[in-house]
Amino acid sequence: MSAEKFFNSISFLRCPICGAAFSQSGASLFCANGHTFDPSRKGYVHFAPNAAPSHYSRALFESRRRILEAGFYDAVIDAIRSAMPNHPGVVLDAGCGDGTFTKRLAGETTVGLDLSKDAIQLAARGGGPILWAVGDLTRLPIADETVDVVLNLFSPAHYAEFQRVLKPDGTLLKLVPQAGYLCEIRALMGDRLRNPQYSNEAVVSHLSGQFRLENRVRITETHPLTPEQAEDFLRMTPLTFGTETQTLDADALKKITIDVELLIAKPNQ
Ligand SMILES: [Zn+2]
Repeated sequence: MSAEKFFNSISFLRCPICGAAFSQSGASLFCANGHTFDPSRKGYVHFAPNAAPSHYSRALFESRRRILEAGFYDAVIDAIRSAMPNHPGVVLDAGCGDGTFTKRLAGETTVGLDLSKDAIQLAARGGGPILWAVGDLTRLPIADETVDVVLNLFSPAHYAEFQRVLKPDGTLLKLVPQAGYLCEIRALMGDRLRNPQYSNEAVVSHLSGQFRLENRVRITETHPLTPEQAEDFLRMTPLTFGTETQTLDADALKKITIDVELLIAKPNQ
C-alpha cells in the first residue's frame, strides 16, 4: 500500500530532474531518460537525493506538532479550509514540514513536499493516503496544470513552479506571518533578534507580480501558554535560531499571539 499510492498517482507526477513522465517498473518510478526513484516502504519518495541536510531538527518538528495538535492554529486552518474548494481534487502542500497542516487540509489526492527528510519521515509515520515527497520547491515532481490547490504555509515560494503545476482555475493559498506574530517571543529576544522590524509587504508585492491576488484574510488571536508549550514555541520558531533557547526565560512567556495573513491568489492567464 505505501508504495502503491505513488503508482496510482503516476499520471500527475513527473521526473524532477528532466520533467519527463514516469512509468512504473517493479517497485520503482522511472522516466524515459533513465532517472529512477524508489518509494520507501515508509510511505514517501526521496526526489532530491543531492539535497543538503536541513538545519531543521527533529526536535523542532516534534515541538511544532505538539503545538499544532494543541489547537493554537485551528482558526488559521479553518480560514485556509474556507478558502479551498469544497472537494478539492489534487492538493499540493509545497514546504509541508511535518505534515500536520497537510493532513487537516487534504484533498482527494494530496502531495506533501518538503526538502527536509526528517520532516517527511515524521509526516509519513502512521501511513495514510498522502503522497509524501522529499523534494525541491524549485523542481516540483508534479506534471503541468494538474493541481487544484497549492498550499504554501510559512514556507518559501517558487511562483514559476506553482504557476506551472496549477490548473488554470486553481488556487494558491500562501500563509505569511504578520507584524504581531509571536510578538511575545520577539519581546523576550530583545536585541538578539536578527530582524526586529518584520514586514511582509515585500512578500505580497512579489506574489502580486506573478499571481492575481484575489483576497487577503488576517487572523489574529492571543492564547495562554503552559510552561511546556512556552518551551515548544521557543524551540520551533526560526526567530530563535542561532540562540541557545535555554538562555531565554521561558517562564516569562505566559501567552502567545498568532497573527498571520492568508493570501488567496489565482494563476495569471
Ligand atoms: Zn528524468
